[in-house]
Amino acid sequence: MSALRFYSFGPHKIPESQVFYRSKFCLGLVNLKPITSGHVLVITKRVVPRMRDLTEEEAEDMMISAQKVGRVVEKFFKGTSLTMTIQDGPQAGQTVPHVHMHVIPRIKGDWANNDDIYDALDSKKGVDNDERKPRTTEEMKQEADQLSIFFDQYKEE
Ligand code: AMP
Repeated sequence: MSALRFYSFGPHKIPESQVFYRSKFCLGLVNLKPITSGHVLVITKRVVPRMRDLTEEEAEDMMISAQKVGRVVEKFFKGTSLTMTIQDGPQAGQTVPHVHMHVIPRIKGDWANNDDIYDALDSKKGVDNDERKPRTTEEMKQEADQLSIFFDQYKEE
């Protein structure tokens, strides 16, 4: 029987079944409370709270990882654009003190006013709030499995 492996996302323990992308310094995770289909996170492997804490290599890898993950989730979830955003520190809306980029597929008309997506990400105002029901481990695993397969196929195209 193989032991379950976990990664850290701030104080949270993320089972590897929820990770669909790995690079030298970063991971792609499915989201516990996505604000829309395909809202995923690119995090650093090292647990540090702020962008300023990253080495240049980590920051570069995060950007390249976001580009790769964005390409895949946009295609998989049939988006036509992406919102990619980092809430860098608590006053900027960060709730998990571990550097992470939100990668969110967008389609025409998904939010009536484009920038309302930032309200949706707001832990106090938006759908990304404490009252929202978290997804089950199984739901998250299923999405990560689908994305991993798609990632492998898409890389070869
Ligand atoms: P922020 O408010 O910018 O710090 O974003 C935190 C993000 O992490 C939100 O999108 C949450 O839904 C997500 N999140 C929180 N806990 C977990 C977890 N255990 N697994 C996956 N995503 C999480």
